[in-house]
This record gives sequence, C-alpha cells and structure tokens, in this order.
Amino acid sequence: MAWINENYLKLKAGYLFPEISRRVEKFSRENPDKKIIRMGIGDVTKPLVASVVRAFEEGVREMATAATFRGYGPEQGYAFLRELVAQWDYQSRGVQISADDIFISDGSKCDTGNILEIFGNQNKIGICDPVYPVYVDSAVMGGRTGAVQENGYFDGLYYLPCGEESHFLPKIPEQKLDLVFLCFPNNPTGQTATREYLTQWVDYARENDCILLYDAAYEAFIRDVEIPHSIFEIPGAKSVAMEFRSFSKTAGFTGTRCAFTVVPQELEARNSQGEKFPIRPLWSRRQTTKFNGVSYPVQKAAAAVYSTEGRKEVAEVIDYYLENARIMKASLLRMGFTVYGGKNAPYIWLKTLRGMKSWEFFDLLLKEAGVVGTPGAGFGPAGEGFFRLSAFAERESVEEGLLRISKIQ
Ligand SMILES: *Cc1c(COP(=O)(O)O)cnc(C)c1O
Repeated sequence: MAWINENYLKLKAGYLFPEISRRVEKFSRENPDKKIIRMGIGDVTKPLVASVVRAFEEGVREMATAATFRGYGPEQGYAFLRELVAQWDYQSRGVQISADDIFISDGSKCDTGNILEIFGNQNKIGICDPVYPVYVDSAVMGGRTGAVQENGYFDGLYYLPCGEESHFLPKIPEQKLDLVFLCFPNNPTGQTATREYLTQWVDYARENDCILLYDAAYEAFIRDVEIPHSIFEIPGAKSVAMEFRSFSKTAGFTGTRCAFTVVPQELEARNSQGEKFPIRPLWSRRQTTKFNGVSYPVQKAAAAVYSTEGRKEVAEVIDYYLENARIMKASLLRMGFTVYGGKNAPYIWLKTLRGMKSWEFFDLLLKEAGVVGTPGAGFGPAGEGFFRLSAFAERESVEEGLLRISKIQ
C-alpha cells in the first residue's frame, strides 16, 4: 500500500469556510423562512464588464477557425498581455518592470501556494497573523513546519502578530528571516501600507538577504494617491521582492481565472555553498514543468481590462464595492462598533461586541440577524475578537444586513 504525505494530517481539520457552511446550513434547516444575508464572502458578485466579455467572445471565435486557432501558448503567457501589464500596472507608475519579468498564471492562490517549491526547506518563513490561510497551509503541505501548537501556530514558522495595538501591521522583525509573506491591502484586516512602512520592509530585506513575497491582489481598491500599489514602487525592491497580482478581485475573474507573478531579473537567492542564483529561471522551470498556461480567450479577456473602455468599466465596479465598504463602515461606527479597514480595501475588520470570541459573535449575528460574516479567529490567533465583513455584495443586501445588525445592538 502507498504512503500518504503525512504533512496533510497536520492541517487543522475544521477549516474556516466548511465550518461556516456547516453552521449556516444547520441554522437554515432549523429556521427555513429566515433569509440569510451573506456579508462574509471573499468572492466578487458583479459580472464581467462588457469590454472583457466582448474580448472573451472574440477569443473563443478565433479558436473556432483553423487560421486563427491557437494551441499551447507561450510559456510565460502571451506577450500582448505581459506588455500591457508592464505598461499599465508598472511603467505608468514610474516602475521599471518589463514584460520579461511577468509570468501569467491561473491564479494568485496557486502562485502564492506554489512559490515555496523553488525555495529550500531551511528558509525561515515569516507569516502575518491574521493571514490569508494559503501561505500557511502550503508551507505545512510542503513539510516546512512541525506540528500545530495549542495556540494554532505551526512549529517552524515565524509569526508576525498584527493586532490592534500595532495597527494590524507586522512589526519589522528583530531576527533574520529569509522569506516573508506580506499582503497589502490586507485580507482579512483591510489595512493598507504606506510608502514609509514598505520602505522599512525593503530596507530590512536588503540588510538581511530576505525575499519579500508581496501579495497585491487588492491593489485596485487603492484610491488614496499616497499609498503604493506595488512593492516595486519602493526603491531597491527589485532585488528583494516578488509580487503576486490577480484579475480576480480587480476585474471579477474569480471564476474566469487569470493572474500574474512578477519576478525581477535581479532577484537572487543562494545554494548551501553560498553561491548566488537568480530566482527567475527556477520559477520559469517550475511553471513550464507543472503548468501549461492560461487559455487564449481568457488572456485576451484579461488584456481588455487595460483598454480605455475596460479601465473605465472596471473602475466603476471597484467604486461600487468601495461605496459598499464606506456605507458599512460609517453605519457600523454609528452603531458604536470599533471598525477598521473598509478604505482602499473591500474588507471591514470589526471588533466583536463586549469582548466576545469571534465564533460566539458569528453565532450571535447568525441567530439574531441572519447575517453571515467571517470569524477573525479563522485567519489566525491574533484575529480572535475580530470579525471580517466583505463589501463584495449587492447594495440592497448590504443595507438590509446593516439594518438587521443595528437591531441586535
Ligand atoms: C482573492 C485573493 C487572491 C487571488 O486569488 P486568485 O487565485 O487569483 O483568485 C490572492 N491573495 C489574496 C490574499 C486573496 O484574498
């Protein structure tokens, strides 16, 4: 009989979202006529915009004719898309990233989960708490950790607490870490990072030969001109960082699948003899061996996001979600809640009532208001006592949800 990868057994059994579904289903069974309002989902609700759909359809039609049919695409993604990304996401902000630095993929979840494969198991990995669970769970699956401790931390990872007292920003570590996952605007806290703060991280990384794994999945929600959209806006970052971006939240591609990872040519790491190697060929090797690209119509649809019309349409959708976030934050503040995030980000990070635990508050909100959110503790121990509400929803449902929450006060 074959053996399993026992690292999978270290993963916590009751994963966050299945547990939420279980409790919601039970509630619905017991209260069949109560309408549930979902304010906890990390998925978009608005459809693809018109210019994206048109490009998508055109791409499909091209696949239907021998003259324009395409099979396997170029390994890093079509040049037409990589060039648009380099131009609009980077060069237009004065950042020198070229099409060669860009690897098109089917998602940032996959990329942030797979990236550790190209790094040795001896790396000290810094993880924020609370955090997007993908970084932790893929480190566990890859055998980079010990067992889970009582407090929910895995042995062998270096946790960077992001609590209320530190404004949900990880402190620059005192010790030397080799790889650090950062995510701004943050999921789940909605916190953003200033230029000064990111500069401290880049300085830290340069002094400690550390690589920053920067997840910017929510950069499109940044409206404050002072806040950097990319880690590469910080001078010197190209030799110490890679960046993960996705069309999922930016342009509603969660079900369409397209993302990219930026790996600058200057980024290096060492072997056990201390010799330096560029990282990009390793990522290229990993992707070309285990991944075969994003479909042509999808890359064509993603390219349409950068057209004049596409940029306008996509910005309107983001504005809609940001307006939801603004309404939610203002309304919850009026009710007397302590509220964070919700600005330059689609997530509200709410302090529970009267010091309740996250799951207690989840049950209260479900029973008293029929509103479903996400317990902060599900993102890590430092999320205990907090609750994530998402602005990905229709306006009426946001308003109804808030009205119901106001009545449990
Ligand atoms: C949604 C999200 C992503 C995007 O994942 P895709 O696989 O591209 O859909 C990446 N990082 C974070 C933190 C997210 O919340």
